[in-house]
Amino acid sequence: MAAEQFTVKSDPELWTRLNMDVERFKNMPPMLTQAYTSIFLSQKNRPEGMSYFNDCVANIHTGRIDELMAAKDEGKPVVGTFCVYVPEELVVAAGGICVGLCGGAQGSIADAEKILPRNICPMVKSAFGFKVGGICPYFQAVDFVYGETTCDAKKKTWELLDAYVPTHVMEIPQRKGARDKVLWLEEVKDFKAAVEKITGNRTGLDEISGAIRLINDKRRALQRLNTLRHHNPAPISGLDMLLIEQIAFYDEPGRFAGKVNELCDELEKRIKSGSAVAPATTPRIMVSGTPMALPNWKLHNIIEKSGAIVVNEESCIGTRYYKDLIDESSTTVESQLERLTERYMQIDCSCFTPNDERMSQVVKEYRESGAQGIIDYCLQFCHTYNIEAVKLRQVCEKEGIPFLAIESDYSPEDVGQLQTRVEAFIEQIQG
Ligand code: SF4
Ligand code: SF4
Repeated sequence: MAAEQFTVKSDPELWTRLNMDVERFKNMPPMLTQAYTSIFLSQKNRPEGMSYFNDCVANIHTGRIDELMAAKDEGKPVVGTFCVYVPEELVVAAGGICVGLCGGAQGSIADAEKILPRNICPMVKSAFGFKVGGICPYFQAVDFVYGETTCDAKKKTWELLDAYVPTHVMEIPQRKGARDKVLWLEEVKDFKAAVEKITGNRTGLDEISGAIRLINDKRRALQRLNTLRHHNPAPISGLDMLLIEQIAFYDEPGRFAGKVNELCDELEKRIKSGSAVAPATTPRIMVSGTPMALPNWKLHNIIEKSGAIVVNEESCIGTRYYKDLIDESSTTVESQLERLTERYMQIDCSCFTPNDERMSQVVKEYRESGAQGIIDYCLQFCHTYNIEAVKLRQVCEKEGIPFLAIESDYSPEDVGQLQTRVEAFIEQIQG
């Protein structure tokens, strides 16, 4: 798509119906148009298949919201979530639509800081600010949200969020012993019952089977794409991969999986013909750590504008979301819920203790991706990932993996300093 043709669309009438602060929000599409044009459309030799994902961004505040509103008119509830631990399969099984509401924008932080303390994670503040400021059409479209008790910032924020939108909370265990698995299965059952009660739709074997297949297909498509992007020379940029991983949280799952698979077909051809986005000598970096919610492209942009390429995201907006599937062979609802629980217990978030399987997973992904170094990304005030970076550094030292830990937020203030550190790291891995 030519840069001049790209525009993030506006629909003030739709936003008024959603009770948004239209005066403020109308500045958002031009800002996003400008950022997307300069960060994404300036890339050379992008795959043709990225045109669908360009369209997703162009329609982010309009077309996709129209689809959600049309679904609501048909009686399908729209459910907002903030964590890959909340089982979207059970929302889909009840006829609902799941959208991720994690905030990745600086623009809503000031709204949140009028209420919340300043020294908490920007992802929580950004999401909360979107709601209290009335500046996110997804937050306005959801019927209810489902939070969780993963970290302190989140679980206490949900108590406040409930004043603005009906907020339910799942208890997430902090360990992975037998007792914790029992607790988590009970939570999954309660979640199913709550979603059924709110939606008025019963979910049986067929509905859950269909939903598991649908979401597995989405995860399988992302797995396939991630394997292809590991090729050297890289057939797709890290920025484009991150964008697709972000869109996975709000697009219609079946259509999304189809488009990702079409892109994979194209990348296979590119690999055969030797077409790439960067030469094989380009330094290859894996990013690990906290999730990067839309439109947080800061670190990837710094890395790739510094002449390296990102070849893997070990993150919840990344492999932690799609590396595991649910066994599809269950013949009873009880067994489906058990298999679902097992799959979700494999998520290796730093909120768990101990979390040694994440250490092995990081090393595994590092080796599979052909990376030459790891940049561990931690959102400011995220204590669990920040402390876990100490252990990760020790593991990387032992394995001989170059490692850089950075802590950042959404403001542009530290870009210069990060750029200097990233450039020095790239020089180091180039030897
Ligand atoms: S990092 Fe942890 S709390 Fe955040 S989305 Fe992932 S699993 Fe949930
Ligand atoms: S990044 Fe850390 S502090 Fe922020 S929401 Fe996730 S677990 Fe909580």
